[in-house]
Amino acid sequence: MALAQEIKQQSLQLGFDLVGITGAEAIGDGHIKFFTDWLSRGYAGRMDYLHRNLEKRVDPAKLLPGAQSVIVVGLNYTPPKQDSVKQKTSPAGRDAAFAQYEDYHQFIKKQLRKLIAFIAKRVVCGVQFKMCVDAEPIAERAIAAKAGLGFIGKNHMLINPQLGCQVFLGEIITSLKLPADKPMKGDCSDCGKCVRACPTGALRSDGQFDANICISYLTIEYKGEIPADLAKKIGDRIFGCDECVLACPWQKNAPPCKNKEFRFCADRTVLDLKEILNLSQKDFDEKFAGSCFTRLGLENLKRNAKICLDNLQ
Ligand code: SF4
Ligand code: SF4
Repeated sequence: MALAQEIKQQSLQLGFDLVGITGAEAIGDGHIKFFTDWLSRGYAGRMDYLHRNLEKRVDPAKLLPGAQSVIVVGLNYTPPKQDSVKQKTSPAGRDAAFAQYEDYHQFIKKQLRKLIAFIAKRVVCGVQFKMCVDAEPIAERAIAAKAGLGFIGKNHMLINPQLGCQVFLGEIITSLKLPADKPMKGDCSDCGKCVRACPTGALRSDGQFDANICISYLTIEYKGEIPADLAKKIGDRIFGCDECVLACPWQKNAPPCKNKEFRFCADRTVLDLKEILNLSQKDFDEKFAGSCFTRLGLENLKRNAKICLDNLQ
């Protein structure tokens, strides 16, 4: 079996749902222009790190000198149907689907390390690898689309026709030359359901995305007091927002995550708001160990819980 096929087969055995390969050449000027235009309009909010490393974002060889190929994997994180999840009766805040699992960064990195070890045994020494899972400056959705994993929708998510929009991505940049897959064709046509479903207008009708008023940004990335007019629109979303995903027709029939090793935490589908407000740091550390909530921290989680409670009263 050809090495590329072996890599793909092994990726699926490691529990990834999607895998594709693309060349490591820089992605087109169109992406750079769109991204720099987006930054210059101030739509990145306070995410200053997005202004840095622009060249690395679009050129994998800037992250790994001598890069030839990028192996892109996808992990479906559509949660189980809600009727199989116990609902709470006290005032509760909803969190985004991605946060209902163990920290995906750690899980995907663990599996990618195994994939690298598998490849390294089959190639000459000296082949280089660099693993990327969210933290590295790489235009991962554009690269995943180029590797054939899906297309980018008006909700700015990667959409795979079988799995919908809830797919975590991970990449291995390598100096190994592998045959590239074809990009997937697809677009949103005249649908605009995600734009209409967005509670704040962060998904703009001109196709731009204004992070400043996005509930995911406000509840996860934004530090400090959230302006009152935006706080009202947060509703009961304590951590993240899935409205533009759930509105998408591609997401309607998405199958739930089938990876049994990737731990789903049923007790995190909704959070008891009063309990959150009473958590000590020790409680928080224990309750949210190994989850994406640790990045947010207790203080900001309590800020969000207070907003949700106010909105529910
Ligand atoms: S995450 Fe929520 S607020 Fe942000 S763009 Fe999507 S629907 Fe709008
Ligand atoms: S809701 Fe419609 S417009 Fe938005 S991403 Fe899905 S298909 Fe595209």
